[in-house]
Amino acid sequence: MAKHVYFFGGGKSEGKAAMKGLLGGKGANLAEMSNLGMPVPAGFTISTKACELYYQNKKKLPKGLMEEVRANLKKLESVMKAKFGDPGNTLLVSVRSGSAVSMPGMMDTVLNLGLNEEVVDALIVRTGNERFAWDAYRRFIQMFGDVVMNVPRNDFEHILEEKKRRVKARFDTDLSINDLKDIVKQYNAIYKKRTRENFPSDPWQQLVKSINAVFGSWNNERAITYRKLNDIKGLLGTAVNVQAMVFGNMGEKSGTGVCFSRNPSTGENKFYGEYLMNAQGEDVVAGIRTPLSITTLSRKNKKVYTELVSMKDRLEKHYRDMQDMEFTIQEGRLYMLQTRAGKRTAASALKIAVDMVKEKLISKEEALMRIDPGQLDQLLHPTFDPRAEKGAARIAKGLPASPGAATGKIVFNAHDAEEWADRGEKVILTRIETSPEDISGMNAAAGILTSRGGMTSHAAVVARGMGKCCVAGVGELNIDYKAKKIAVRDVTLKEGDYISINGSTGTVYTGQIKTVEAKLSGDFLTLMKWADEVRRLGVRTNADIPRDAQTALRFGAEGIGLCRTEHMFFEGDRIISVRKMILAEDTKSREAALKELLPLQRKDFEGLFKAMGHRPVTIRLIDPPLHEFVPQDDASQKEMAEVLKVPVEKVKAKVAELHEINPMLGHRGCRLGITYPEIIRMQTQAIIEAAINVKKSRIKVHPEIMIPLVGESGEISFCKEVIEETIQEVFKKKKTKLPYMIGTMIEVPRAAVIADEIAKQAQFFSFGTNDLTQMTCGFSRDDAGRFLKEYVEKGIFEKDPFQVLDQEGVGQLVEMGIKRGRATRKNLKVGICGEHGGEPSSVEFCHRVGMDYVSCSPFRVPIARLAAAQAAIKEKRMKRKGRKK
Ligand code: ADP
Ligand code: MG
Ligand code: MG
Repeated sequence: MAKHVYFFGGGKSEGKAAMKGLLGGKGANLAEMSNLGMPVPAGFTISTKACELYYQNKKKLPKGLMEEVRANLKKLESVMKAKFGDPGNTLLVSVRSGSAVSMPGMMDTVLNLGLNEEVVDALIVRTGNERFAWDAYRRFIQMFGDVVMNVPRNDFEHILEEKKRRVKARFDTDLSINDLKDIVKQYNAIYKKRTRENFPSDPWQQLVKSINAVFGSWNNERAITYRKLNDIKGLLGTAVNVQAMVFGNMGEKSGTGVCFSRNPSTGENKFYGEYLMNAQGEDVVAGIRTPLSITTLSRKNKKVYTELVSMKDRLEKHYRDMQDMEFTIQEGRLYMLQTRAGKRTAASALKIAVDMVKEKLISKEEALMRIDPGQLDQLLHPTFDPRAEKGAARIAKGLPASPGAATGKIVFNAHDAEEWADRGEKVILTRIETSPEDISGMNAAAGILTSRGGMTSHAAVVARGMGKCCVAGVGELNIDYKAKKIAVRDVTLKEGDYISINGSTGTVYTGQIKTVEAKLSGDFLTLMKWADEVRRLGVRTNADIPRDAQTALRFGAEGIGLCRTEHMFFEGDRIISVRKMILAEDTKSREAALKELLPLQRKDFEGLFKAMGHRPVTIRLIDPPLHEFVPQDDASQKEMAEVLKVPVEKVKAKVAELHEINPMLGHRGCRLGITYPEIIRMQTQAIIEAAINVKKSRIKVHPEIMIPLVGESGEISFCKEVIEETIQEVFKKKKTKLPYMIGTMIEVPRAAVIADEIAKQAQFFSFGTNDLTQMTCGFSRDDAGRFLKEYVEKGIFEKDPFQVLDQEGVGQLVEMGIKRGRATRKNLKVGICGEHGGEPSSVEFCHRVGMDYVSCSPFRVPIARLAAAQAAIKEKRMKRKGRKK
């Protein structure tokens, strides 16, 4: 029979850190820590493979598994010198889940398993600590009831809160022995009422049920949502860890805590953590009492503190990464209960990666690989304008749980957060505390505000992971879910009111506050420099105006990959000239209107060229159907008629004429230039004249003129002739020349197929993957949103293909287009300018298929730079692996 259970502790463990896939992160690291000789309570891990078999086997434990468990339990008993279920000297265990990827709060733990009335009585005699025994028991019933038997958590909470209220206990620790006994009685009653059976007193039954429940929880809704949101795939399941209990709730010499080897918010290399005395398990994270900072421990218990510091130092060196650890102190003795790579904010990830290279713990390549490109977004996001923040009405202060700044309307539950956000509202999800059920709502909110819980509370941990601004534990806030109101001293806010939170300082304000762009730190620049050293792909930006170009330059853009000329048509008065051109009845009057546009376009291009200096600038000729430039409603049509001094009927007639059933497949792109060559003639003239003018200030401009929507080589040769002719005319007139390129977008599937023919005419290709996706999949870009979300939810499409390039389908056309294009033009320059150019997995694809550059919106430039570096490193590593084989 295959081995499914691995023992750890009490000498050499059967597992180790490298067995994460099989033992889950928690199990593998518990084994590793005990192999390092650290004080880890012994136990054993049931593998993730067993979980996979459980699901293959219609949710039944694999044959022989429980015999293996029994054998390991025997071994645990002999290591612990105690017996499971034996009142005389009982062994209590925890049952803990844990998959290969850490999923905080997703699958619940049962502590103190093995207790029953008889054992409790014996425990009292043995420990002389009656309070402890009853506290452990009531916790056990609650956790077992909730996690294993699905008794609503609220039922238990209600009993506990009622009791506390009646005896005027502020904290759980204020409850007396009799209070606890009474709670146990009520817990048992509610357990029976909900499950229609007695609480199981047989420890073995308790264990069997718990193991089943952990496996079962792998596919609960929360776990599935978490995996989906975090893109976690390809795991077998969760492992189950059965571990001897140590107790932090034995009195004031005992306690439990969570700590990080460096600050997870800022990355500062300083020990960081929180703990509570006389507490157990999740108390610290659940925000039951406000935890103490770890530095307090150094004063209160020097010995334990020093030991803990040496553990964290060793673990960080050993794993060469920032560690997130759990520990328990039982009557002055320290035990390590978990270690894992700590979740961190982008700022902290950056600082830690750069610092660790300096400390010679990791290489530059490793530093680059450790940062999730998508996470960089956080650093580029706005903060409050300092002056506006100074003047804002500050109402409270909490913990700076996740940095950034957010302004939005108050909502009180996750459901409303999602609904309001769907309507396009910015909301601040305001809760007493959050729980895993709130995840989708947290994701939809602009920021998260809680009145309870510490820096390691659910809200804080999850928000940091999401890169979402969060202020936690604002004790002064009185949140009333029923009345949908918040009261802070004399201020009352209700649902829908504006509130602003600063996740970097923990401050809460009423009203809206102006935000400003992010400043880039030295570490950011260092890492980007390293990325630039290893990446092969160029990174350009999509920018239409000098301001966007400048932003992109600050972020490291190396050129413009797409300038959409028509975006300039809406600026100021130019729309008037554009409309004149559209209304023109003949070429001559059209040319007259175009003449008005020429100097405006030329000035726009000059601005862009000046901003970009010597870097290449790709300008796309007019693309959208003309109807986009005329008003569709009566009032605006009347206004247009007045401005242009024509009868309104004429305007209406034109609008009707321009109407298309399917404009995305209609009269647009190069098709416009073919019907109205004078438009692209004017645009070419503006581009080349602007380039010549800017050249005078010693800037070597290198314009690249791009023809959109080509699907047939005849289209490109027609347009090219017009463009070339115009360029030569300008050169002649200006008595000068400059280098330029003429190329095309590849966005019609046919163009990808006949790319060899098209490349004979085009000096460069730029894949317009938005249109290419639309036409390849047959999904209207403007309508697909309605059903694509469902496609993704139902797993028909793994990802929205407009967000993440569909490598399997659209990607094949891209690959084919590049191959065929380069078959007839070896030095064909190839890039991408769709939304995908800034999406990490798509960037990796672009690297693999041999593109020269990607182009994306300014804020995504750093993401693309890092993603491109990671693609290059991955390729290098693959090659190295290949050679070894
Ligand atoms: P999670 O994955 O949600 O962090 P854990 O399995 O780590 O869940 O356990 C939840 C809490 O219970 C943690 O604080 C952990 O330290 C504590 N805990 C787990 N097992 C034991 C044990 N054997 N003795 C004492 N505390 C434990
Ligand atoms: Mg938990
Ligand atoms: Mg844990």
